[in-house]
Amino acid sequence: MKLLLIITTVLFLALIPAPQRTQSAADIVFKNGNVYTANDKAPKAQAVAVKDDKIVFAGTNAAAQKYVGPNTRVVDLKGSTVLPGFTDSHQHLSGVGQREMTLNLEGTTSLEDFLAKVKARVDQAKPGEWVTGRGWIETHWQPPVFPTRWDLDKVSPNNPVILGRADGHGSVANSAALKLANITKDTINPFGGEISKDKQSGEPNGMLLDSAQGMVRVKVPPASSDDAERAVVLGVKRDIELGWTQIQDAGGTYADVEIFKKLYAAGTIKLRIYKAVYGPGPTATRLLDEGPTTGAYGNRFTLRTIKVVSDGALGSRGAALNEPYSDAPDTSGFLTVKEEPLRVMLAEALRTGIQVETHAIGDRANRFVLDEYEAAFKAVPSSERKIADPRWRIEHAQIVNPADIPRFAKLGVIPSMQPSHAIGDLFFAPSRLGIKRLQGAYAWESFIKSGVVVPGGSDAPVERGEPMIEFYAAVARKDPKGFSGEGWHPEEAVTRAQALKMFTIWPAYAAFEEKLRGTIEVGKLADLTILSADIMTIPAPEILKTRCVMTVINGEIVFEGS
Ligand SMILES: [Zn+2]
Repeated sequence: MKLLLIITTVLFLALIPAPQRTQSAADIVFKNGNVYTANDKAPKAQAVAVKDDKIVFAGTNAAAQKYVGPNTRVVDLKGSTVLPGFTDSHQHLSGVGQREMTLNLEGTTSLEDFLAKVKARVDQAKPGEWVTGRGWIETHWQPPVFPTRWDLDKVSPNNPVILGRADGHGSVANSAALKLANITKDTINPFGGEISKDKQSGEPNGMLLDSAQGMVRVKVPPASSDDAERAVVLGVKRDIELGWTQIQDAGGTYADVEIFKKLYAAGTIKLRIYKAVYGPGPTATRLLDEGPTTGAYGNRFTLRTIKVVSDGALGSRGAALNEPYSDAPDTSGFLTVKEEPLRVMLAEALRTGIQVETHAIGDRANRFVLDEYEAAFKAVPSSERKIADPRWRIEHAQIVNPADIPRFAKLGVIPSMQPSHAIGDLFFAPSRLGIKRLQGAYAWESFIKSGVVVPGGSDAPVERGEPMIEFYAAVARKDPKGFSGEGWHPEEAVTRAQALKMFTIWPAYAAFEEKLRGTIEVGKLADLTILSADIMTIPAPEILKTRCVMTVINGEIVFEGS
């Protein structure tokens, strides 16, 4: 009889449905949300339950109730819009932080405005101290021409000055800086760069393009390790406040890797970082030798990618084109990588399972990279690769000959693109390229239709690095004031649903993480970007006014707005 009672009790306990047991209670239940999951099978929900670092439920408010236990935090979202954690597929994290720390010249409206800002900084500097900064862009100045050393000499006759154009592919230096670098009218251009010269006198005019910037930059005392760490902390703070949950760091060195590891170990940073280091060269060789790091610090840190830079930028006419520039017939830009070391590195990367991502802006650079990737794939067949489908990427894929667009899908190459580049560059792209070549420029929708995913990014600090600017640019393909001109190809704008994927599941795929994150689905890592308005339905201009109200990474609320 007693035995029977025990058996009955055991049977009865076994029949209690699992969700009522305490171990199934969630840590946090977000309810009353307007949830877009980016999961085509169940695109909408009201509530999301999170336990530890994972999503354990996405569905209705009523069904979420069973995940509420005595220790569960219930967050009433009051109708806020919940999206899978946003990823910036192309960012320069340290640069974003440094922009906060050095002279930030973003938004300068004229040469006078630019010089006034520089003068204010020079006036505070000690004698002989370097003045550095970045972020200026002359596109909207009247006239839209580069500043010169002589302009800068007027406000800084003694202190050396070097100031980067927003795109990172050009800098202007004053005479004191050029003197320290021994740059004269007789100095020849370095490989992959140009010392811009005055047409009449032949004197260097202060503008240094691509690799030529390095001739002056090496004279600037390096940032202290404290400053480098502070830049990362400031960059991460800004990113999570804007709603980014992962950034894919497009290049750098092992010095960055050491800083990230130190900050993760101390719990100082929570943002996910998918890191690339520059190659070909010793840094890339080290990665090929030592192999990747994946999913460290709670799936927050992965290092598995080599970043190659194959040309310059369109604004400074460094982008490598098949035909000369329409507004400068004497040049068609230049490639910035040598073929031989690249080939050796690509083959080794396939053998060792290292991803490669290559900056390519001009149509010649894009074709060159596709050709090099294709040759590597032929030289090292799947059977000899560590990862059969290596998911190599082309960063920017900005100006692509329409004949080359289908090659991406055919080769399995991912175009990683930045919508804000289009709405900035399209002001000057028609004069650089002519109307005809704009077919195939910033061609997001053509790429998607061709069968590839298009991860979206900001390229901050080249651009501002704000998810709402990128999302707006992708769906509106107009400047922030609503302007679009001839040759802007409105048909290349994407739908809201596609834009959502550009910043969630597609970047996850481009990082081999599509099973881990990128949608709001049971079993995936709990990364959420929660917004003040429904960017999937509101009129496009209102997207720019939308704020991030909460950022969740690994199930932890890492930012909560007021
Ligand atoms: Zn970049």
